[in-house]
Amino acid sequence: MSDASGTGSPARGFDSLAVHAGQAFDPTTGAVIPPVHFSTTYAQDGIGGLRNGYEYGRSGNPTRTALENQLAAIEGGTRGFSFASGLAAEDALLRAVLKPGDDVLLGSDVYGGTHRLLAKILGPWGVGLRIVDMSDLDAVAAALAEGHAPILWVETPSNPLLKITDIAGLARVGHAAGALVVVDNTFASPALQRPLDLGADVVVHSATKYLGGHSDVVGGALVLKDDALAEKVKFLQFAVGAVSGPLDAFLTTRGIKTLGLRMQRHSENAASVASFLQGHERVAKVYYPGLSDHPGHEIAARQMKAFGGIVSLALADGPTARRFAESTRLFQLAESLGGVESLVNYPDEMTHASVRGTELAVPEEIVRLSVGVESADDLIDDLDRALSSL
Ligand code: PLP
Repeated sequence: MSDASGTGSPARGFDSLAVHAGQAFDPTTGAVIPPVHFSTTYAQDGIGGLRNGYEYGRSGNPTRTALENQLAAIEGGTRGFSFASGLAAEDALLRAVLKPGDDVLLGSDVYGGTHRLLAKILGPWGVGLRIVDMSDLDAVAAALAEGHAPILWVETPSNPLLKITDIAGLARVGHAAGALVVVDNTFASPALQRPLDLGADVVVHSATKYLGGHSDVVGGALVLKDDALAEKVKFLQFAVGAVSGPLDAFLTTRGIKTLGLRMQRHSENAASVASFLQGHERVAKVYYPGLSDHPGHEIAARQMKAFGGIVSLALADGPTARRFAESTRLFQLAESLGGVESLVNYPDEMTHASVRGTELAVPEEIVRLSVGVESADDLIDDLDRALSSL
């Protein structure tokens, strides 16, 4: 088996790995679901005599190990790391790689909190930030020629405007300049897109979203292949301690087991919602990579198995966007995305409020939908009713 659990299981395909990787049954009882380990500390067989390396809950926990092995397997990496949130994962990676004086090249459409972390936390420690449209590889090459940047950081599809970046192309351009290519794979999830297979160096997740999948756990993940970098990340995870707790790790593992099924349904429902919205008179523009007129459609079709569950729209009458976001009933008005239930979000004042007034500001007419797994007709009726009420 390509998972790190060493169980000799014949799981190979994505859905088999999602169910089995890291999830060997309990050897003492045969329990098919490995037990959740809440113990914070581990008895030693004499000083330093650790059993399987477990010493203390911050440095290692078997439930977290099971998740980390599952993460590595489903993203096609060799090492996985689970954190208390997506931002904690991002912070660990950035601090493992960067030193004062370094620059990060950041995609021009990303989660507001990622920009905030770089601008407001790492900025004062001497890390520079340059914004680049990662879907334009010439612009990326030009930015790298202007000055070295150890990290290229991209979301594809991006939050909230669903921009698509050619991951293989970005890896070529980035590696030619000696940069590490980091892909935030939160929106696609490995069920639809595997950045490491396409040449990226590190995958980042807000596991709070599709990996967990049920809006009941906050978590983050890093997956990579390079052992030297993995050791640096592991040291930061241990030394700083933003690890996921055992119950959170268990819930994330449980969510991942149905990831493939859920992403299929999310994608089908999102495609129906996108085509409904595209024909609506109150909608000026629909952002969904599955639509043939989306500028990144061909690249997305090449590097993704399906187009995912997030659809954004621009209202024809900009100021009505805010009211629209408050008018749906099945789509609940809330932060976050990626759960089985549909959510609506008004980025300008919610998820992206922290980038107001910056290059990454989200226009006031934009509303983001996280399309859940409910019956598609009900979702469309809900949107239709809300649009008609404006
Ligand atoms: N990356 C993306 C694309 C996100 O949407 C988010 C959160 O919304 C994050 C990272 C941060 O993750 P978390 O909220 O789990 O810290």
